[in-house]
Amino acid sequence: MIDEETLTGAVHFHGHLCPGLALGIRAAEIALEVIGPHAVDEEVVAIVETDMCGVDGIQFLTGCTFGKGNMIHRDYGKNAYTFVRRSDGRAIRISGRARAAGPPDPEQEDLGAKLGDGTATPDERQRLATAHERRSRRILEAPIEELYDVELVDIEMPRLARNFTSVQCASCDEPTMETRIRLLDGAPLCPPCFERAVC
Ligand SMILES: [Zn+2]
Ligand SMILES: [Zn+2]
Repeated sequence: MIDEETLTGAVHFHGHLCPGLALGIRAAEIALEVIGPHAVDEEVVAIVETDMCGVDGIQFLTGCTFGKGNMIHRDYGKNAYTFVRRSDGRAIRISGRARAAGPPDPEQEDLGAKLGDGTATPDERQRLATAHERRSRRILEAPIEELYDVELVDIEMPRLARNFTSVQCASCDEPTMETRIRLLDGAPLCPPCFERAVC
């Protein structure tokens, strides 16, 4: 299990402690153990199948980040993460088990709904926060096999993130990554300007 100081850092990075972050932290722990330490550069690539809270735990702990280009999002809506080591291609997929976040809790769902539509009282907000905290702590302490299935996988190595040159959009004049530019009658356009021009 990660130490309190690292946990504090992850919570600070994400903004709050929640079950999603806790699940991301546990997935990151597996990656650090099986694939390699915090990535300084692109030596490890993460392919994440969600864009929810857990991804922040992964970015913070593994050093696989969107900004560095060694985190790839596949919009599958799953609590599942693949990590690939560039040096030898070793790869694992870590997939969340059913009920990894704990059994459904009708009271908590009810409170969550109230929070969502803005009708929760301060007392109810507090109760929900406490329940969240309890659930998160349980995830942080649970045996890994209750949370995740881990398997070695064979995957094609993702390409290195590359620096592309920018081209100025002929409509809004903003420099735009060359690979995103679309041509309309020979004029280079950025994606939103292209959409506007053809619609
Ligand atoms: Zn969260
Ligand atoms: Zn433009």
